[in-house]
This record gives sequence, C-alpha cells and structure tokens, in this order.
Amino acid sequence: MNRISHWIDGKVVESTSGRSGIVYNPATGEPQSTVDFASDAEVDCAVASARTAFGTWRSTNLSRRAEVMFHMRELVDANRKEIATLLSGEHGKVLSDALGEVARGLENIEFACGIPAMMKGGYSEQVAAGVDVYNIRQPLGVVAGITPFNFPAMVPMWMFANALVTGNTFVLKPSEKDPSAALFIAELLKQSGLPDGCFNVVMGDRTSVDRILAHPDVAAVSFVGSTPIARYVYETGTRNGKRVQALGGAKNHMLVLPDADLDQAADAAVSAAYGSAGERCMAVSVVLAMDTIADDLVAKIKDRIPNIKVGPASEPDNEMGPLITGEHRDKVVGYLAGAAGEGATVVVDGREGVPTEGFFVRPSLLDNVKPGMRCYDEEIFGPVLSVTRVSTYAEGLDLINRNEFGNGTAIFTRDGGVARRFQFEVNVGMVGINVPIPVPVAYYSFGGWKASLFGDQHMYGPEGVNFYTRSKVVTSRWPDPTTSRVDLGFPQNR
Ligand code: NAD
Repeated sequence: MNRISHWIDGKVVESTSGRSGIVYNPATGEPQSTVDFASDAEVDCAVASARTAFGTWRSTNLSRRAEVMFHMRELVDANRKEIATLLSGEHGKVLSDALGEVARGLENIEFACGIPAMMKGGYSEQVAAGVDVYNIRQPLGVVAGITPFNFPAMVPMWMFANALVTGNTFVLKPSEKDPSAALFIAELLKQSGLPDGCFNVVMGDRTSVDRILAHPDVAAVSFVGSTPIARYVYETGTRNGKRVQALGGAKNHMLVLPDADLDQAADAAVSAAYGSAGERCMAVSVVLAMDTIADDLVAKIKDRIPNIKVGPASEPDNEMGPLITGEHRDKVVGYLAGAAGEGATVVVDGREGVPTEGFFVRPSLLDNVKPGMRCYDEEIFGPVLSVTRVSTYAEGLDLINRNEFGNGTAIFTRDGGVARRFQFEVNVGMVGINVPIPVPVAYYSFGGWKASLFGDQHMYGPEGVNFYTRSKVVTSRWPDPTTSRVDLGFPQNR
C-alpha cells in the first residue's frame, strides 16, 4: 500500500513513531494508503526546521518573497488537474468540484503576490521637534496550520500563502483522511524557490495537534475544523500564549421570501446543499421557507433531485461523490433514520438507490423540520437539506440569530429594502443576497461569528495579513545639535 509521510526540511521524512492511519478511496470503500502519525519528537523536528529557516527567510527582501509566490501561482495554475485528481482520489469530490477548490485556493496565492503593498506602515513626521513616528509589520516566527478533510488544498492555501509571504515559516498538519495534497503543495513550494525548512508538513492525529499547541516555538496557530475541536485548539493554544484563529462548524440557513424567484431559489438551494455531498462549511443545510411558498419550493427542490448524477469522480459526468469515510456515512444516515420519528417529513430519502460500494448517500430532503430535532440542531455535514417553515421574515431572522453557529447565511428576495435590513440585522459572518454560498473573494476575509469562529481575526485577505504579523511602532530622533538638551520630564508633544 502507498505510504504517506512527513515533509520536513525540504524532503519526505518517514515516521518512526510506529503509529499510522488509513486513507480510504471513498468511492470504493477500499483502503488505498497508510499515513504516518507523527510522534512529539517528529513535530519538534518540523518546528526546529521552521525555526532555523525563519532567520534567513524573514530577512529575505519583500520582493523576493513575493516572487516565490508568483512562481507558486504559476505552478499551481499549471498543475490544477493534478491537484484536483489527488483531491478526488482521497476526498471523493468530483473533478469539477475539485478544480473549483484549486481555483479558489489559487486566489489566495495571487493575493499574497501583492504583499509589498499590504506590508506598508504609517508614518507621522515631526510629532515633536525632530521626532518622527512610524509603524512596521513584522512576522511572528513559526506558525502552524491545522486543516480539515473537506478542503485539503484550499484551506492550507488560505493559510500558508499569507503566512509565508509576510516572512513567517510554516508547519502544516493536514487532515489524516486526505493528506496527499499537502505533500504535493510542499513539492511545488520547493520548486517555486522557497528555501527548505520554510514549509513543513507533519502528518498525524490529535497527538501532533497537542504537540503543536504546547510547543514553545510555535507563535501562532490557524485552525479550521469542527466546533468542539476549534474551541479546544483556541483554548489550549491561547492558554499556552499563542495567537490563535480557530474556525469551526456551521449550520447555514437560506431564507426564501415570497417574492423570490422560486426557480432560482430552488436551483441555488440544490447546488448549495448537495455540492461536494454537503461536506462544505458554507453548504446550505436549512431552507427557511415562508409558509405561502413552502409547498411550491419543496416541490421544485424535490423535482431537481433525481437529476443529480451521483457516483465516483472517475466518471466525468457525475456531479456528487461519496462521503469521506464509512463512519461519517453512517452518522449522516443516522440523521435520516431518526428524522421521521422526530416529526420531520422525509421527502427524499438518500439511503435509497445508493451504489453498492463506497461511502455514498444520495441527496436527501426533509420537510417540516423544527428546532429541537437532531437534524436541525446538529451539523450533519452531508447531503441532507432540511426545510423549516416560517410565517414571517422576523421568525426566520430570529431562528438564524438564535442558532449557535454563524458562519454563512443567504436571503432570496427581489426586495432590496428587506435584503438590506437582513444584512443589517443578521448575526452571521458571511451573508449572501441571492447568492447561496457567499465565500468571500481572497481580498476580503473569511470567517463566521458565534461558534463558527474562535479568535479575533478572520482568515485570509487583510485580516490574514494582520493575523500573521505584529505591528511595531518606532519613535525616532536623529542627532540635531539645535534641539539637543537634557530634560528629565516625561516626553511631551506640546
Ligand atoms: P475535525 O475537527 O474533525 O478535524 C480538523 C483537524 O483537527 C484535523 O486536522 C484533525 O486531524 C484534527 N483533530 C481531529 N480531532 C482532534 C482532536 N480531538 N484533538 C486535536 N485535533 C483533532 O474536522 P473535519 O471533520 O476534518 O472537518 C469538518 C468540519 O470542519 C466541519 O465541522 C466543518 O463545518 C468544519 N469546517 C469549517 C470551515 C470554516 O471555515 N468554518 C471550513 C471547512 C470545514
């Protein structure tokens, strides 16, 4: 079986920990690789490599660091298909979806190419006689990224592009479920001219995460994953004195008002609920349908479901692949099995007609779902769309605002006034107006509110640059005999 190992100091390093995991082919259900799990000593080795590389890398001039990202941009662009094929092979997402992931990741590398403009500080001349003040942004040192299974290429790109270009060195701990893209990215960064040690990958599970969180030489941690682990990473990392941004889970609601174009809303709900088999933190998982249009909307969504082509990524026509593991498939199926007993109406049951091999669940639709039901209260992270009926805009808004998560939301309406009111009133970090998956472009920043984000800074874009740098303010005076004298008073400007 193929063996997937660490990348430390510019080369593949096999683990001697004696611990490993299995990477499945989700389309067949068969194991295809083993992945090494790092020991504490192996994490230490990766951090030491990054620490050594930091001295030279942070002193490398800004244009040269940007130039490495320009090269990386070209290499990722040239290798879109190879990366996407790796993603499909381990994650299971269909090729068109995997290509979309690479494209959105690439945007972040492109943003990082413009770093010289983002690293400019401010300057105030003559704040006192002969005294100037300016601020500069400096890197933090060794920073770590811990990433989820659902975007094995894009989420690391959210992190390392800005982290590296601002002068930090990086240790990535990718998901153990689909780790190969991380190694491919490491190879491309090396080819881009990034010095050895600036980017390291440790494969592993909780043990390696815990070592990263405890390591005194790791200055900051970016995490993306489920809410319980995000909370744990944030609390542990900050307790250990690290800067942490930890993005968690989601339950994204799409509110459909009676004046919406219902065909457009149904297309959007189906695309956003079942794309990537619902394994997206920005997937729509609840449609809030106003009573007056709910029957029509449910019928339109139901009509579209049989047309979705479900199957392995190896067949180019397929639009939706399997779930990541058998365990996750069983969890998703459990929500479907329990829904009717809790009072929901199972309109389309995705347990029916699934391929005999692989971790497939077909698109599923539940109606009359209410708070208090497991399928409403918990993040399912699979191709299960719930419809909750509401009688007013205010009732819909209240449900969204009371939800523990606040990652993404959308409103579908033709009324600009209501849409604006929604954007003003809703307690969610990313809002779509007739856009079901409002993932911000790379020159904004990505992040939810409430239990979808722990920390102060959102990821990538300007907030990403802030996260990976710290500001230093310099107050300077150059010798000038005309203003020099002894003065024991507190420095004053006036
Ligand atoms: P996960 O929380 O299980 O794993 C994320 C990372 O944490 C992995 O690298 C994993 O190895 C590590 N990990 C797992 N258990 C751990 C533990 N007990 N202690 C320390 N580390 C641990 O998440 P996942 O299943 O890989 O990804 C799906 C989740 O990620 C969903 O909840 C989804 O909503 C969320 N997600 C959020 C965003 C966002 O931007 N908010 C984006 C993508 C995914």
